[in-house]
Amino acid sequence: MDFTNLQSQYQLYKTQINAEIQKVLDSSSYINGESIARLERGLSEFCSSPFAIACSSGTDAIILALLACGVGRDDEVITTPFTFIATAEAIAFLGAKPVFVDIFEDTYNFNYHLIEEKITPKTKAILPVSLYGQVCDLYPINQIAQKYGLCVIEDGAQSFGGKYQGKYSCSLSPLATTSFFPSKPLGCYGDGGAVFCQDEGLAHKIKSLLSHGQKRRYIHQYIGMNARMDSLQASILCAKLKFFKDEILKRQEVAKYYDNHLQGVITPFIQEGNESVYAQYSICTPYRDELSVYLKEREIPTAVHYPMPLHLQEAFEYLGYKEGDFPVSEKISKQILSLPMSAFITQEERERVVEGVNGFMTSRGVV
Ligand SMILES: *Cc1c(COP(=O)(O)O)cnc(C)c1O
Repeated sequence: MDFTNLQSQYQLYKTQINAEIQKVLDSSSYINGESIARLERGLSEFCSSPFAIACSSGTDAIILALLACGVGRDDEVITTPFTFIATAEAIAFLGAKPVFVDIFEDTYNFNYHLIEEKITPKTKAILPVSLYGQVCDLYPINQIAQKYGLCVIEDGAQSFGGKYQGKYSCSLSPLATTSFFPSKPLGCYGDGGAVFCQDEGLAHKIKSLLSHGQKRRYIHQYIGMNARMDSLQASILCAKLKFFKDEILKRQEVAKYYDNHLQGVITPFIQEGNESVYAQYSICTPYRDELSVYLKEREIPTAVHYPMPLHLQEAFEYLGYKEGDFPVSEKISKQILSLPMSAFITQEERERVVEGVNGFMTSRGVV
């Protein structure tokens, strides 16, 4: 059994993907080719965000978004410790300070009730994450940001295609980012990402920042980066974007099957009005470590997203946090376990996953 089934996906779309790749090879436009503009239009239409800018990775997308809202040395950015390191790493990389707030115990997303007490005169932005494919509570977060004149950047690396109150992830805040890392819900065949925004001036600035801050060739307005997406990666995404809506429905079907059949574990809690893309289908149980060994022995792959919250990572030692500072994140990091999830899991595989989990829980006397 495969955790993400990327090979099944390629085999299914092979003709379309190979044709798109061939077009780029024949064009010799390996940078800024026609596929980049086409992808940006496709992404913007898909999620109804006025501007989509393709870039080199989800991490660079966050750095670009932070730069676009002027985050720099000694600024503070409020974010969650229960995420992939890239979220807070991008903040720190710019010389700014990540300020963590804990998560909700049911959705594992950013607890917005805790934001206001962390706002100081140095706070520049709020960077919430839409974890596991479920969009975080952006309406209350946007409201707080507006009250204090802060920027909001949604880290939608896991949630592109997910919906909040009927609207798509990456269209709900002034700035948003996503990742096209191969195993994300919409993945390319290497690194890739995108920044989304609502304002044309900001879109121009981001476009410039990702190409050395240039206004036009060899005339540079900002200190920028080399953070362009390759034309080849864009072409693969153009092919895959056509199938994405259908894949989301299939992922949701798999999740529903798990929801209805798993016993003795906490299954993902999706808030009313939300539709998750299930970047991960993560269950919670105090028996996490034993369960993952049990499943591995039965050739059922699992993963832990994430085993150590960011405030306890060596890289962030200098921030001075300690164990106990974010109890919900700490507890969940010890109990969370992601099960195989993709649009291509067969019925037989779903049944095996469920039998594995339920079999273990029965052996523990939990069910
Ligand atoms: C994957 C991920 C990123 C980073 O994306 P890359 O494309 O790998 O750089 C950032 N934030 C979150 C929440 C992620 O899951």
